[in-house]
Amino acid sequence: MIIGIPRETRAGETRVAATPETVKKMAASGKHQLVVEAGAGAMSSIPDEEFQVAGARTGSADEALGADVVLKVREPTTEELPKLKRGAMLVGLLNPFDAAALQSCAATGVSGYALEWLPRITRAQSMDVLSSQANIAGYKAVMIAANTYGRFMPMLMTAAGTVKAARVLILGVGVAGLQAIATAKRLGAVIEASDVRPSVKDQVESLGGKWVDVPYANDEERKIAEGVGGYARPMPPEWMARQAGIIHERCKVVDIVITTALIPGRPAPKLIKADTVSAMKPGAVVVDLAVEQGGNVEGSELDKIVMKNGVKIVGFANLPARVAADASALYARNVLNFLALSLNAKTGEFAVPRDDEIIKATLVCENGAVLPRQ
Ligand code: NAD
Repeated sequence: MIIGIPRETRAGETRVAATPETVKKMAASGKHQLVVEAGAGAMSSIPDEEFQVAGARTGSADEALGADVVLKVREPTTEELPKLKRGAMLVGLLNPFDAAALQSCAATGVSGYALEWLPRITRAQSMDVLSSQANIAGYKAVMIAANTYGRFMPMLMTAAGTVKAARVLILGVGVAGLQAIATAKRLGAVIEASDVRPSVKDQVESLGGKWVDVPYANDEERKIAEGVGGYARPMPPEWMARQAGIIHERCKVVDIVITTALIPGRPAPKLIKADTVSAMKPGAVVVDLAVEQGGNVEGSELDKIVMKNGVKIVGFANLPARVAADASALYARNVLNFLALSLNAKTGEFAVPRDDEIIKATLVCENGAVLPRQ
């Protein structure tokens, strides 16, 4: 069997779905050929030679995409799709919420496994690409905020006087938000954070942040706020209005806001309105991590820093790709752990366990058809 690792060709995508570490493990049995496209690791600081030393052959795009098992980061482009082989196993972030993208992927006849749909069960944690990449995004968002902000993050007492610590508000405290809190805290900022899910309060406080509470008016609101499967659900407009009022007041006093709020398969909730941005202090920085899903902040623009009344709104896409080497290292390990459900690294035996709930949840297309979500 041939396992192919193509070079990612989407604009700004620097990651690669395998590293020498994971190639070595996949090649260990000696039963499978590993083909890594020339230059696939270049943007993640992995030269072709390192893949070769680990046991892979450097090949063309046609060879890597035409393999029996294709490991990718992003869903195939229109140029890549025709190179896939009917019946091959394709693993990656296949963007299953985009019906058209999924349909064109299905039309190639591959068995497509979308890692976005991994169930959030303990056994799947080592494969959870959304978490590994969100963690990186949360870290990088703070780095970008600190770089864009024209003042210090920590409190400093110098001979020339005292500098105040930056006040940072984090909205949406999932994996990215928690890492943003931890990172900003390490830089010495004063943190406050909020989320729709009530269970997050203790996590915020244990990281040294102050919880910004948006009260529930009734049991129905509280029930919706608990979400499903660890993910949030859209909140009723009354709660969103209450939240907007509270956030407006907090935004007036903080220096940096990082928004990470997402609802799977839906546009990101708008948490910061234009009038809230206008009420912020000049020099304040807002980093909108949800910009690719439509944004949490009114006025944020994809891959731009927008200036509004002296406030900088940063809308950079794909932050994990800006930490390419580590993002690839973690992504590749996630993919290897997923593949290990089907591939016995020692014996080389390959059989997809069709009844495994992780396989069932992630298999999005097969034999030319899109499969209904499990
Ligand atoms: P996500 O990226 O889908 O969303 C980010 C955050 O935005 C979430 O905390 C969500 O509640 C919040 N949000 C949504 N709408 C909001 C609104 N209107 N206002 C404020 N906040 C809003 O979430 P995620 O980071 O992928 O993870 C969510 C949870 O799942 C986390 O608590 C995480 O620890 C948990 N998780 C569990 C497992 C597992 O058990 N295997 C694996 C990964 C993550």
